[in-house]
Parts: sequence; structure tokens; C-alpha cells
Amino acid sequence: MKSPDPAQPSLPDVARLRPRQQMAMECALCARPLGGSGRVLGEVRHRGLLFRLWVCLRDCHR
Ligand SMILES: [Zn+2]
Repeated sequence: MKSPDPAQPSLPDVARLRPRQQMAMECALCARPLGGSGRVLGEVRHRGLLFRLWVCLRDCHR
């Protein structure tokens, strides 16, 4: 059992996101188009690349 790193908010698995979510065109959590607004959820490293994940400006993960 691994406990989550408290410094790191739980981020979605980049490998499972759609390309548009990886490219910050859609919310990383709910896949709604961001349309120029949004906020950074966090950065994750995937296959040697750093992805900055964006989510809706207002909380959407529910
Ligand atoms: Zn969202």
C-alpha cells in the first residue's frame, strides 16, 4: 500500500487522457472544452515529457 504524496494533489493518469486533454484544450477531469479559461491542476511527467494539466476554472470534479 502506497499512501499518496501529500504535496501532490491527485492527478489523473496522463496516459488515459485524450490528446485534447493532454494538450490543455479540454479539462483534464471532465473533458469540457476550456475555451481559453481554466486553471492549472498540476504537472505530470509522462514518457519523458512534462504535461501541464488544465481544469475548469470552477471546480468540476464532481
Ligand atoms: Zn472540468
